[in-house]
Amino acid sequence: MKTYLPPKFIVDRNPSRCIQCQVCVNQCSFDVHYYDADDDEVRSHEENCVGCHRCVIFCPTQALTIERNPLDYRENYNWRPEIIEDILRQAETGGVIITGMGDDKRQRIYWDHLVLNASQVTNPSIDPLREPMELRTYLGSKPERVEIEPDSLELKTYLAPQVELDVPVMFAAMSYGAVSLNVHESLARAATESGTLWNTGEGGLHPKLYKYGHNTIVQVASGRFGVHPQYLDVARVIEIKIGQGAKPGIGGHLPGEKVSAEVSLTRMIPQGTDALSPAPHHDIYSIEDLAQLIYALKEATNYQKPVAVKIAAVHNSAAIASGMVRAGADIIVLDGLRGSTGAAPKIIRDNVGIPIELALASVDERLRQEGIRNRASLIVSGGIRNSGDVVKAIALGADAIYIATAALIALGCTVCQQCHTGKCAWGICTQDPKLAKRVNPDIGSRRLTNLLRGWSLEIKDMLGGMGINALESLRGNRLHLRGVGLTDTELEILGVKMAGS
Ligand code: SF4
Ligand code: SF4
Repeated sequence: MKTYLPPKFIVDRNPSRCIQCQVCVNQCSFDVHYYDADDDEVRSHEENCVGCHRCVIFCPTQALTIERNPLDYRENYNWRPEIIEDILRQAETGGVIITGMGDDKRQRIYWDHLVLNASQVTNPSIDPLREPMELRTYLGSKPERVEIEPDSLELKTYLAPQVELDVPVMFAAMSYGAVSLNVHESLARAATESGTLWNTGEGGLHPKLYKYGHNTIVQVASGRFGVHPQYLDVARVIEIKIGQGAKPGIGGHLPGEKVSAEVSLTRMIPQGTDALSPAPHHDIYSIEDLAQLIYALKEATNYQKPVAVKIAAVHNSAAIASGMVRAGADIIVLDGLRGSTGAAPKIIRDNVGIPIELALASVDERLRQEGIRNRASLIVSGGIRNSGDVVKAIALGADAIYIATAALIALGCTVCQQCHTGKCAWGICTQDPKLAKRVNPDIGSRRLTNLLRGWSLEIKDMLGGMGINALESLRGNRLHLRGVGLTDTELEILGVKMAGS
């Protein structure tokens, strides 16, 4: 069938610069560039271009420019080009439109409407270069109060297992299968070097990475892929995945083409078969059922590891989170509307769920009102872009933050949204051995460690500017935030005052 879809990008090759070296031909995984031997010239099938920019970066003579196709439809706010093209695509395929990465629509990004405080005159700021600044964070259930044996000064109160982070930023769940093993290794090594944690996602843990267990969160999702006693034993934290911000309410699907021999061994499924995670856990239909799984996992690991429960941020997250804490979760993970995915129906990704900022504020407030905030740590994710977002999230009530897209960008990802195709030109979301080699774990882990180091320095600068010398003093302290350009209702939900007041 003839496609009615116009090319999205124009590939502009400057003939005076191009030396016909064919680097672009070899680098492109979407078959855009090809060598025409008759004319001894490199040419392009620009209709295949996804705008990943791999060729632009690797062209040795900067001969390439990729531009959006200026060809446009008649202006119509209702029938925008994307809407027209989605209809055309479905008319041609008769299927659900699948995409990768997070919601790219103009949903309000509340971080951009929140500003931080800084000390002036009466409460002096602190210079982090000259004075100690504490970013250490402890994840896990805390007792309401602690009692100490007066003579021995030993702790009398039972303390649930705690996990210490040197930096309050962790790498979010991305499964082996969705991303390559080299990406997993880069994340695991960077987490270990930076004193934080990375998360296996729902695809199990490759035996090669067991040595990073002390810095690993293992996931138990509805498909139970790769879950076995050794997997649970090696981990620092166990995370039950109920939902994901990019696709709340639906399951996962790793296409058979991405289930290589290694992935199949790690996931414990036959090679080449589709890995389908059901939408619900078939043993969880109530908070009581969730409590059973939480305690089964605690029992299986001798009560030595915190158990986290991850949900997508949805309308009644606050009530659900309260139930999760009462069910025994040590850590609550909220993943917002802008959270990413390796593959999701586009219609779900862009229309279901709520922004993480609103979910975080309402969950933190509800748990405080109920007097149970100490019983679980709160981790948020879903579109955290920089250290400013991290500091604002902590002031809104988060204990720590998960990043995924930002981590992948550090590895080269250009957010081209083609993760579901398995052809990632940057070697990230692929199981093609030739492409996967493009991520070198030595370099990848260094880039990720650098990112966390840069953010840590910036977080210290912001804390110092507020006159605070420990992250702990900022947690849930919304007095350090003010809103700009928000309605009274939004300010009320966020629990912050308008700037100027
Ligand atoms: S990589 Fe650059 S110089 Fe080499 S063939 Fe492609 S456009 Fe020409
Ligand atoms: S991981 Fe790869 S395919 Fe996915 S958005 Fe990034 S560059 Fe594109």
